[in-house]
This record gives sequence, C-alpha cells and structure tokens, in this order.
Amino acid sequence: MRIKVLGCYGGQQVGFRLTSFLVNDSILLDAGSPAEILTLEEQHRIRHICVSHTHLDHIKDIAFLADNRCVKRSSGHVENRNITIHSLAENNQILMRHFFNGHIWPDFTVIPNADDSILILDDIEPERTFEIDGVRITAIPVNHPVPCTGFLLDQDGKQVIYTADMANTDRVWEFANAQPNLQAIIMDCSFTNANQYLADISGHMTPASMMKDLKKFEQLGKVPVYLYHMKPESLQRMIEEVEALNVPRLRMITQTDELHF
Ligand SMILES: [Zn+2]
Ligand SMILES: [Zn+2]
Repeated sequence: MRIKVLGCYGGQQVGFRLTSFLVNDSILLDAGSPAEILTLEEQHRIRHICVSHTHLDHIKDIAFLADNRCVKRSSGHVENRNITIHSLAENNQILMRHFFNGHIWPDFTVIPNADDSILILDDIEPERTFEIDGVRITAIPVNHPVPCTGFLLDQDGKQVIYTADMANTDRVWEFANAQPNLQAIIMDCSFTNANQYLADISGHMTPASMMKDLKKFEQLGKVPVYLYHMKPESLQRMIEEVEALNVPRLRMITQTDELHF
C-alpha cells in the first residue's frame, strides 16, 4: 500500500493544502486538495473517494475532480468513467442537498446521464468492511460535530488507520489495538495547547488532548503516528509542543511524504 500526502493541513494558505491522501493511484481519503496538486492524468486515475465527513476542507475538490472528469469523458475517454463516493448515508444526503444541488455546483450524479454519471454515491455502514481496488476499508465512527468516520485500510495483511477529524474517541483505539499488523496511524492534531477550548468546541485535538487518546494505544512508540490537520499559522508552536511530549515515532506528516507499506 502506498499513501501519498496531497494536503495535510487544517487551513488553506499559500503553500499549505487541505486534507487529502492518495492511496495507491485510484483511491482518495478525503478531497481537500487533489485538483490543486495532481496532474490531469493522475486525477483521471481516481476511481474512489472515501469521504470522512462533509466539512468543506474535506470535500472541496470533489467538485473540480468531477468537472475535469466530465470534460475528459466528452473528449472520448473511456476508462475510469465514474468516481464513486463512499461515505455514510447521511453524508451523501448532505452532499446532494447542499453541494451538488444545482446551485452551489451541478449535480454530477445525473451528468451526463443518470445511467452513467460522473459521480456515484455509495452509502457505507459503520464498521462494515468493503473492498475497492484491492484495499479492504472499514469506517470507524469518531467524535466530531457532524457525522464523521475514520477509515481502517487493509491490503496484503498490513493495516493503516486514518482517524479523520476527531476529538477524543475510544473506538479508534479499540480498532488499533485489535489489528494484527498495524503499520501506521494518521491522526488529527489541529490546535496548540493554548487553544484547547477551540479544539473542544470544534471536535479536534491539541497535543495535550491527543496524548490522552494515545495512552489508549498499546503500540505507542512502536507503530508510527503521523499527525495531520495542523493550523498552518501555529505550526511551529505545535511542532515544539509535540516534540516536548518526547514520544518515539510520533511526528507531523508533511505534504511531501509518501508512505509505503
Ligand atoms: Zn471537520
Ligand atoms: Zn477538517
């Protein structure tokens, strides 16, 4: 399994892209930035998007991936005609009602026609494993102000967990501790310790609250934990706070990382 970081920040500024991870070549975990960083050829290889939740920083580029795919198809391209969105039913309903509603953006679930549309919605169920392009994926409900799931990925007997946006959540660590060959965790860490109240009301982590959750992780220090969703403007302070925790194999992920398992 390869996981290429396309964007990993909880804010958009010049040089800081929003959350999106490319798994192998065809699966996205969230879609905050793929149209900004991938070439058109790379975009056209994407066949699946696992959407953790409907906050804009995780769905923004579905709009532009769909638009680019539509133009590509109209020029006669026959491969990878559709992009399937895998998310909770309530999230797919929100996407239809508030995003692909003909006002904010066209409804690409009926374009160019309903039988062979650019976007296909797949309602997934929490904790029920599905398989796409050789990767077994399980959605794990996490603690965030809107319906949200992290994802457990499993390929070739190796597992990776992406928590998605979350405040303290026991279930993720029950999954993490149950995996036979866990390779890494990609985990929310958004705010500095001084902004704990902001983290609490928005359903995110600080280094301090994150550490409370990591104490539930039996392989802490052995299995790498990569942090994402940092607010760019306080990145330096957060790096210092994370280093002060002095936990082996715990670090912030960067936009140039490509993880191989
Ligand atoms: Zn969120
Ligand atoms: Zn977010």
